[in-house]
Amino acid sequence: MTTAPVRTDTLDLIGNTPIVLLSGPSEAAGCEIWGKCEFANPGASVKDRAALYIVRDAEARGELKAGGTVVEGTAGNTGIGIALVANALGYKTVIVMPDNQSREKMDTLRALGAELVTVPPTKFADPNHFVHTSRRIAEETDNAIWANQFDNVANRRAHIEGTAPEIWAQLEGRVDGFTCAVGTGGTLAGVGMGLKAQDENVRIALTDPHGAALFNYYANGELKSEGSSVAEGIGQGRITANLEDAPIDTQFRISDEEGMDWVARLLREEGLCLGLSSGINVAGAVALGRQLVAEGREDARVATILCDSGFRYLSTLYNAEWLKKKGLPVFDWLGSS
Ligand code: PMP
Repeated sequence: MTTAPVRTDTLDLIGNTPIVLLSGPSEAAGCEIWGKCEFANPGASVKDRAALYIVRDAEARGELKAGGTVVEGTAGNTGIGIALVANALGYKTVIVMPDNQSREKMDTLRALGAELVTVPPTKFADPNHFVHTSRRIAEETDNAIWANQFDNVANRRAHIEGTAPEIWAQLEGRVDGFTCAVGTGGTLAGVGMGLKAQDENVRIALTDPHGAALFNYYANGELKSEGSSVAEGIGQGRITANLEDAPIDTQFRISDEEGMDWVARLLREEGLCLGLSSGINVAGAVALGRQLVAEGREDARVATILCDSGFRYLSTLYNAEWLKKKGLPVFDWLGSS
C-alpha cells in the first residue's frame, strides 16, 4: 500500500497531482494516453500552480509586501488560484474578468472573498480589455501587484519546475509526447521546456481550439485565426512572453465538437467530469498518439493536461439550453429541456 501525502502547509496542496491512464483515448490512439489531474488542485484547476509561483516571485522580488493586494485579469481559474493563495498569505485579491465567462467562476470568486470587476469582452487592442483594465487597477491601488499571467514568466516556471518533472517521474522517465492548448502558454511552454530538458526527443505539440491564432503561427509563421470556440481559458492571438522560445514541434487544431466528444466519453465511460479545454487537450493527445503510432511507435506514451473540473461549467457546457443557444450538440443524457 502507498500512503497518500501528508502536508503541514495548505499551500503544499498545490501541484503533485496524480496522473491517470485514460482508457478510451488510449484505445482510440493505439498507444498510452495519460491525463495529469490538475482538477485535483485546491482551486480545482491547473492555474493554482501559476498563481502560487507568481505570488511567491513578487514576494521574493520585494514587490508584494504584507497586507498587499494581488490584481489580475483572468478568464476565472487564475483568479480562483490567486484568491486562495492570497488568503493563505494574508493578501487581498482584485479580479477583472470578461462578463461572458461562466457564472460558476464569478460566484466562486465572490465566495472566496475576491473583489470581482467584470468588463464586456473586447479585442486585446481595446484599452478596456480585461487585461489592460486589471493593469490599470493595479497601478492605481496602494501596495498592489499586477500578476500579469500572460507575460510574467513565473507562470511557466511553475510548469518547468513542477508539472514537467512530476510527469517525467510519474511516467518513469518514458514520455514520447506532450500536448495541451494555450491560454497564457504557461503550461505548454513550461511543460515543453521541462520535458525537453529531460529528453530533447519528447515531441511537444500545440493543440489549438478554433478561433485562436497559434495553429497558423506554428504551422506557417502567420498569426491568423479561423472559426470560433466556446472553450474558456484557452485560445490565444499573440505570442505571450510565456510562449517565447516554446519548443513546439507540431500542432493540431481541434473543434469544440471533437473536444465535447471526449468530454462526453470521459464522463460516461470513465467517470471524469471535466471542462471543455480538457476535452480539447485529450483530442489533441489522441492525434499526437496516432501520429507517433503511424511512425511505428506503438509503445508511445503521450501526456496531456486535465485542466479543470466540469463542475465549474454546469450552467454552460452541461446545460442543454446554453448548448442549443451556442449551436452545439446537446449531450444525449441531458435531454432537450
Ligand atoms: N484550461 C483552462 C480551463 C484554463 O483556465 C486555462 C488557463 N487560462 C488553460 C486551460 C490554459 O492554461 P495556460 O494559461 O497555462 O496556457
